Amino acid sequence: MHPLQILMAKWSSPLFQGHNYKCNLCGFESKKLRSRGHDHPVIKIKQILSAGKRRSDCPRCLSSDRDRRLWLFLENNITPQSQILHVAPEYPVALKMRKLSESMGFQYHCIDKRTPGYYYPKWVLNGDITSLNFPDGMFDWVIANHVLEHVPDLKNALIEVKRVLKPSGKAIFMVPISQSHPTQEGCELVNGEWTCQLTKKEKIEKFGQHDHLRLFGTDMDQLFKTMGFDLIFEQYESLTIDKNQHQPLALFPNERIPIATPQK
Ligand SMILES: [Zn+2]
Repeated sequence: MHPLQILMAKWSSPLFQGHNYKCNLCGFESKKLRSRGHDHPVIKIKQILSAGKRRSDCPRCLSSDRDRRLWLFLENNITPQSQILHVAPEYPVALKMRKLSESMGFQYHCIDKRTPGYYYPKWVLNGDITSLNFPDGMFDWVIANHVLEHVPDLKNALIEVKRVLKPSGKAIFMVPISQSHPTQEGCELVNGEWTCQLTKKEKIEKFGQHDHLRLFGTDMDQLFKTMGFDLIFEQYESLTIDKNQHQPLALFPNERIPIATPQK
């Protein structure tokens, strides 16, 4: 997210002021949220969570429904001694984590696969989830949200995350998930390299986004078991519903946080 986008959002946010929603990242109270996403038929057909056109973004800090759910989880689970790696960090969450790391004393590292034409803050170092530049057993937490659906070699990414996690460590892998279909893989091994042969149009039709290489589904926990992780799904939104059943964080309904623990 470019600083100019944040500045523009801050500047225009008074237009959204109200009391229907309250962002847990910046504290802004709004009458309505900004919109995001695209509507493709597959999103409804495959009941994909955390996808589709919707009003979900905080008018001031531009946090998404996913960012606010992640923050709800992190602020309840991070401890002062933690070592944390955040891959492709969500900007509003990363800013909050950097601030909190100073007061709480945990170590917070951000990496992303730097791509020409995109903006990255200088504290986001260049890095690749399939070849992590960190020693074995370093981290208590690895956060890699909306990353695994973009990585051709899923197995290698999970091997690397497992390698850098402490035996007691955990990984957060939020991804778009179909509630009705099993996982559909878009990559195959060609001459020893994992490659996706689908066109952008085919990816949109099958997975709901032009740069997604697979769509995780109802068998996600079994798939992860075959790759060395036990998966549980945490649901946090019940914590935030008020007595009138109103959801001030506007979280995506039924979305859960996949928490992966390395198998011994
Ligand atoms: Zn906000």
